[in-house]
Amino acid sequence: MDVGAVAEDVTLNRSSMNKHEQAEIKEAIKKEICQILEDIVGLKENSRPIPPDNAIGRLTRMEAINEKSIVEANLRKTKLRLERLNAALDRVDTESFGECVICEGPIPMNRLRVLPESTVCVDCLNNSDD
Ligand SMILES: [Zn+2]
Repeated sequence: MDVGAVAEDVTLNRSSMNKHEQAEIKEAIKKEICQILEDIVGLKENSRPIPPDNAIGRLTRMEAINEKSIVEANLRKTKLRLERLNAALDRVDTESFGECVICEGPIPMNRLRVLPESTVCVDCLNNSDD
């Protein structure tokens, strides 16, 4: 860890993210949102009402019900991620974007590229029980 670089960030009073990186993350969020909207359409297709036994074929009705509850859980999770990504898109142009909400340290770019909706750094994430 380069102590000099950290001190410089503190004097600038903002995270180490520059305009270019901010734009990159913004694009990543938009792409992710498009992908999720497609996923939701697909999941909804799979969570249609379960047909009566004689229409199911090899799959038993019980299996179909299990399958449906898995799809519905996925759908809920996916919708939650969509909400978080939309919130991230609202925040991406603000000074505090890319800052950990717990320790206020910068969230590494590599993490934001993968999970742009992150609001905590890896250290704080590991320290929480969630
Ligand atoms: Zn933190």
